[in-house]
Amino acid sequence: VSPDDSPVHALRRAVAESPDRTFLAYFDGRLSYREVDELSDSVAGHLAARGLERGDRVAVLLQNSPLFVLAVLGAWKAGATVLPVNPMYKSGEVTHVLRDGEVAALICSDRAWDSYLRDTAADSSVRIVLTGCELDFQTRGDARVLTFERLPQAPDADDLATVAKAGHTAPGDGAGDGDGDGSLGFGFGLGPSDIALISYTSGTSGAPKGATNTHGNIMYNAERQRTGLALPEGPVYFAMAPLFHITGMVCQFIACLNSGGTLVLAYRFESGVVLDAFAEHRPHYTVGPSTAFMALAAHPSVTPDHFSSFVNISSGGAPLPPALVEKFRAGFGPYIRNGYGLTECTAPCASVPPGREAPVDPVSGTLAVGVPGPDTVVRIVDDHGRETAFGEPGEILVRGPQVVPGYWRRPEATAETFPDGELRTGDIGFMDADGWLYVVDRKKDMINASGFKVWPREVEDVLYTHPAVREAAVVGVPDGYRGETVKAYISLRPGADEDPAAFAAYCKERLAAYKYPRQVEILPDLPKTASGKILRRELRSRPPA
Ligand code: ATP
Repeated sequence: VSPDDSPVHALRRAVAESPDRTFLAYFDGRLSYREVDELSDSVAGHLAARGLERGDRVAVLLQNSPLFVLAVLGAWKAGATVLPVNPMYKSGEVTHVLRDGEVAALICSDRAWDSYLRDTAADSSVRIVLTGCELDFQTRGDARVLTFERLPQAPDADDLATVAKAGHTAPGDGAGDGDGDGSLGFGFGLGPSDIALISYTSGTSGAPKGATNTHGNIMYNAERQRTGLALPEGPVYFAMAPLFHITGMVCQFIACLNSGGTLVLAYRFESGVVLDAFAEHRPHYTVGPSTAFMALAAHPSVTPDHFSSFVNISSGGAPLPPALVEKFRAGFGPYIRNGYGLTECTAPCASVPPGREAPVDPVSGTLAVGVPGPDTVVRIVDDHGRETAFGEPGEILVRGPQVVPGYWRRPEATAETFPDGELRTGDIGFMDADGWLYVVDRKKDMINASGFKVWPREVEDVLYTHPAVREAAVVGVPDGYRGETVKAYISLRPGADEDPAAFAAYCKERLAAYKYPRQVEILPDLPKTASGKILRRELRSRPPA
């Protein structure tokens, strides 16, 4: 990565090399690199004309649609920091991030604006609003329309379609950069240490915090993807993870842009739509949480053909049960590569190198998450901060070019989580003598059953080997005798009707007596974050069945 590299530079490179190559494919719609450059110039011109200044925050509350890409690139071209907001957030959650980020501009769908954001944003520092239509499933009944250019104007927000059509005569500014290439020439020379994103963590373990990912952080990981994935020239990426989450943003959108590839977007994760898109676009690569692969594998019309174009598939951001990797390979062909990362290290900091397979630890049955990247130092330390021996679990600490400088406006949390620039992940893991990293579990999720440590992951991994299990999550629940006891929540595969006691017995045969779940409850679905992670926190607070 060159020192002044940024996604906007990567876009300029791609436009210079192959302006007419398709950058975005969205159902029947296509946008070339040149079109994305011009449309995002319009967004930037509009923001600048309304007084947006370098370093101001632009919140982008959109699904995986072309508008998302145009909004983010446009904001960066205007010199802003982007604050991606989960479009499934309810009003109170949006208010929190708009205030926390002291946001100046909001880009969202006109439907979300009309239904609740107009009121929500009224109570914030937002002074510029830009809306557009992403995809209207309900009223059109036809998912295959790119409606970007034909939208009615939201009465009190500026309509993106109008802005886009205005093109180079974007309000106020109007001036091109005079080099005759049709580009407005925004970019403000953003450097690697400028903050590109304020990414709120998933909130799996508590209230979301804003990690400040710099342009340098995201370009480093995007470049690692390009060199580490062995994809063909002009690769086709399918955006399965949501783009507002760091994994989708960096490993799909920016990595694809950095490789001059085509990014296939499908609004949001729905197994049937995703499988159709695989068949139509023949992608080479995708990444998603393991729960997405479980959902695809359980779809009634899935076949191995759906996966025949893939060169690589990665799972990241959530534990990957080894049984799922094997079931997937046996049923559909591809090997799912594990990857480990956090919002605080801009998605992956360890992954499985191409052509290799992650080993399974013979003692715990845990699948390795990968090996740390070349410039990345991972240390495992005990409670006293001493490095542990190979195979000995402790907290995972990460230092490297993808680790963010800290949390947005939280000096105390920054000092606590990034002492001396090294990230304390809050995850327990170990390293083997060959350098493979294993994640045991989150420190906070440990169950203390009569003084015995139980790591939920180990029990979940066993449950996933049971053919009737679709999803499993294990938590500690209060117990008068043991302090805490192990409880499993399970959702079943279609057609299965096992009795809860069968799962307890199955684990009892395979695990030490203090580890097997003494309580098992079956639910139709397990609660998840918008990025697809199972929410143990929510299960812990469920009333007893
Ligand atoms: P919050 O910090 O708000 O609780 P979160 O930690 O879920 O949310 P993310 O940054 O999205 O926010 O997730 C990072 C966490 O996901 C890691 O700390 C780790 O616990 C888990 N994780 C990521 N990849 C893997 C993996 N391959 N195997 C096991 N766990 C993983």
